[in-house]
Amino acid sequence: MAAIILDGKALAARVKREVAKQAAACKRAPGLAVVIVGDDAASRIYVNAKKKDCAACGITSYEFALDANAGEAALLALIAELNARPDVHGILVQLPLPAGYSEQAVIQAISPEKDVDAFHFENVGKITTGDFVFAPCTPAGVMEILDHYDIDPAGKHCVVVGRSNIVGKPQALLLLHRHATVTICHSRTPDLTAMTRQADILVAAVGKPGLITADMVKPGAVVIDVAINRNEDGKICGDVDFDSVAEVASHITPVPGGVGPMTRAVLLRNTLRAAQRSVENDGKADIL
Ligand code: NDP
Repeated sequence: MAAIILDGKALAARVKREVAKQAAACKRAPGLAVVIVGDDAASRIYVNAKKKDCAACGITSYEFALDANAGEAALLALIAELNARPDVHGILVQLPLPAGYSEQAVIQAISPEKDVDAFHFENVGKITTGDFVFAPCTPAGVMEILDHYDIDPAGKHCVVVGRSNIVGKPQALLLLHRHATVTICHSRTPDLTAMTRQADILVAAVGKPGLITADMVKPGAVVIDVAINRNEDGKICGDVDFDSVAEVASHITPVPGGVGPMTRAVLLRNTLRAAQRSVENDGKADIL
């Protein structure tokens, strides 16, 4: 194997140590409200992981579990209550929501100051202009991996495969703000290989195991695999055929142990930042 493994797990542990240090020094104990609606098994695993991460970093987590048929009005009322609570600095509604809920209505109800996922239109707009407080956790985690390994996107051709609002699009913007030339690919891209082979930095965020094979990667490229899939044996894997691509790439993230842990670490840092801002802005009416 030729490629350097980009160790997101080790980097996330460092970020978490720093968050814990700063949380202890913060005048106000950071608090994250995690809202789960229904009994989706995967969502439950994610929520439990977030609570555990918070506990490890000195962030107080508050869980709110609503029945799947509680209804959107009840969820919006809960969010309004959390928006007003001074001990809650971040609000995270675990997605996807069950049928019958408008995810967009729910996200837009969260106060932008507490929107630690950075999905609110106000935060999306700020990410677009480059003047943002919170960056969405996964793309921000990718940027942090690049920075940690001294991989500067400036002047590079970055190809992002996937155009979702939570990963692909904000990832492309963050890379653009760092002066990369960015191409975004998606399911209607006619010749994906022709695009990916041009990438100095290739980010795969699709959700299809084995989509990116060695012949699709330019020799020496940096390959970031955002996806979290299960293969036929039920094992966690990304979009990238790791073993073959690692022979061609200069750097590669593993799955698990790459982008995933960094996503979790950035959520904690965004929550800390929200708490720090609430202290900084004590007495000011509008902090964003
Ligand atoms: P979405 O399903 O919302 O988006 C997938 C994107 O991939 C879409 O833009 C889609 O195109 C595109 N796509 C689908 N098939 C192809 C194809 N054959 N060729 C090129 N593009 C294609 O997924 P998410 O963005 O939410 O997540 C992507 C992956 O990242 C998933 O595996 C998810 O589990 C993982 N993930 C990992 C996180 C982490 O912490 N590491 C956090 C969040 C997500 P189109 O728009 O045309 O449909």
